[in-house]
Amino acid sequence: MTALLVAVALVAAPAPRPILISVDDLPIASGKLHPDPAERLKITHELLAVLAKHHVPAMGMVVGKNHPTPGDEALLDLWLKAGLELGNHTYSHPDASKLETQAFIADAEKERAWLAKFLAARGKTLRYFRFPFLDEGDTREKLDALRAYLASSKQTNLPVTIDDQDWSFEDDWVDARRKNDTRAMAEVAADYQAALRIHVEHFEALSQKLFGRPVPEIVLLHAEEVSAAQWNAFFTWLELTGHRFASVDEVLADPAYQTPQSYVGRNGISLWDRIRAERRNADAKAVIAKFLDVQIAAWNRGDLDTFTHAYADDATFVSPNGFNSGRAAVLERYKKKYPDRKAMGHLSLEIQETRLLEGDEFTYFGDTVPGHIQGASVAAKWKLVLDGKPPASGRTLLVLRPKGDGWEILQDASM
Ligand SMILES: [Zn+2]
Repeated sequence: MTALLVAVALVAAPAPRPILISVDDLPIASGKLHPDPAERLKITHELLAVLAKHHVPAMGMVVGKNHPTPGDEALLDLWLKAGLELGNHTYSHPDASKLETQAFIADAEKERAWLAKFLAARGKTLRYFRFPFLDEGDTREKLDALRAYLASSKQTNLPVTIDDQDWSFEDDWVDARRKNDTRAMAEVAADYQAALRIHVEHFEALSQKLFGRPVPEIVLLHAEEVSAAQWNAFFTWLELTGHRFASVDEVLADPAYQTPQSYVGRNGISLWDRIRAERRNADAKAVIAKFLDVQIAAWNRGDLDTFTHAYADDATFVSPNGFNSGRAAVLERYKKKYPDRKAMGHLSLEIQETRLLEGDEFTYFGDTVPGHIQGASVAAKWKLVLDGKPPASGRTLLVLRPKGDGWEILQDASM
């Protein structure tokens, strides 16, 4: 009986999940709210006290424009003296999608050079970089260039997996606290805790789905007054819900963080959302290729009705000789041009490029997430082999629209 109870207890208590606490915009985020050096020092002491109380090996990400004075540099020193690691979060906190590649690199490099020197004077090395707004660029070219810059300057991108909106509570918190409005403070506190918990649960459910196991997480927090007031309750909740505060090295060593992905978008998102979007997009491209295979197979057995069924009711067909609107007109055109099985020959299609049309969407909390795939375009080469005739070939550009679980052709420009 006792052995059984022990066994049940062992099964019921999984190993705590490692979680990295990363704190952005050091030394003080929302600097406009806290110009007073004494207040900046007080917030810093309070943040470090909560981290120490819960034995959190946090990463602090430093923004150059946030430490204009020697007093601010002294705040960074306090983080180092607490045994915490500092990383580069650029000089002016620019958005990679809104800046030219070289201008973004110059901004990141300006702070890297300063921070590397600051750390070297204290026997430390700069290792990590974080993209402001988690935005890694809106084109593949920019993403690749920024990754090459980080590699050449020996900075490792520190992603976020639990992307939340903790910073959005700062204004209301400071306003309520300054008015000594305890009721408003309690409301902000309750909202902060609820929002953070929902984000942790959401992203942990997502990583469980992606990897089929509990994965170490990286939560994004900010160096601000509301954090100083709310972290103790949040960290206590994390401890009670099976988490263990872990170092950057331990968390990043998990293979989940080596998952290849090259997501690009106009807004920054969680690493898990990046990986999910890449997998979803690869799946969508495979479904499109299959959809076109099935359509071509219909042609090659002489089934023009099924072949034409791939077109939307309101599809248009554009060729060098004309413009046909509607599926019925498309079918008519094919029937005229290919009156029998012999005239249809053997068709093949070689896809050269598939692009998916998608845009960012926003959750109720204001988090950016990859939007649904709204359409796709396919550039392909076609070839028609006919008995006793030289083969015909050309190119086509198809515009596709989702239909149920599949797709339909909305526009077909064949030449
Ligand atoms: Zn930031």
